[in-house]
Amino acid sequence: MLWKNLITQHFPDARPSGQVVEEIQQKLKHEYQVDLQHSLLGDCRCVDDLVRSDQMAERLAGVGIFSLGGLAGFPVTGKTGFLAFGDHVPDRGSAVILYGPHVGVSELNGLGMVRRLGHLDETSCCGSLIGILNRMQQTDQPRSTAKAAQSFDMQQVFIERQLFKHRKAIINSENPVLKITEIAYKLSRRQISHIVRATGKRFRGKQIILVGGIYINTKHGEEDWFDLRHCDQIPLR
Ligand SMILES: [Zn+2]
Repeated sequence: MLWKNLITQHFPDARPSGQVVEEIQQKLKHEYQVDLQHSLLGDCRCVDDLVRSDQMAERLAGVGIFSLGGLAGFPVTGKTGFLAFGDHVPDRGSAVILYGPHVGVSELNGLGMVRRLGHLDETSCCGSLIGILNRMQQTDQPRSTAKAAQSFDMQQVFIERQLFKHRKAIINSENPVLKITEIAYKLSRRQISHIVRATGKRFRGKQIILVGGIYINTKHGEEDWFDLRHCDQIPLR
C-alpha cells in the first residue's frame, strides 16, 4: 500500500507536518494569545534524530527549546526537568509543550519501520517502542527497576514497565505497532498532565499550552506527517 494511504488508514486526521504546524501557530496566536517571540518550547518527544531534527520544534521555539522528553517521548526529565523548564519561560510569556510518540511508516513493512538517510534497508521507528513490543512477544515480564540501574538502561526499563501493564491488549491487537503507539500517547499525556499539575504554579509566564499528537516519520525525502490530538491551555496568572 502507498505510504500516504497507510497513514490515512491508521491516522485519518493526520496531515503533513508543515501544514499542521502552521495551524498550531495560528491557534496559539489567535485563540490563546501566545506571542511566539516571548515563549519557550518544551520538546517532550522522542530523542530520535528523525524527530528532533524536524522543523516543527524550530517553528514553535520562541526564545529556545528545552528538552523534556526521552526515549519514545516519555517525560523522563520528571518534575525537576519541568521545573527548570518553567523557570526559563520569559516573564509574561508562555510555556508551550509539544509531546507525543512517533512511528515510522513503510510501504514494504507497514507501521513501525522507516528508511533513514544513508541506509539501504529499513530500521525500526520508534526503536524504543518496537524494542518493548519485541520483548512483549517473548516474555510476559518487564525488566525490574533494580536491573535497570545495573544494566544502564534506565529510561527504557521505566517505559517498559508501564507499557507491560497493557501487554495483552497490545499483543492481541490487530495491529500491535499502532496499539503500542496509541497507548504510549495516552500514558505520556497522563504523566505530563500530572507533572504540570504538580509543578505548573511555579512556572514563570502567564500560561502553559500543551500540544499533543502522534508524529509519523516517512521515508527520507518525503515530508513527515503529524496527527494533532490535543491542544490544552492552562492559565497561570
Ligand atoms: Zn523513538
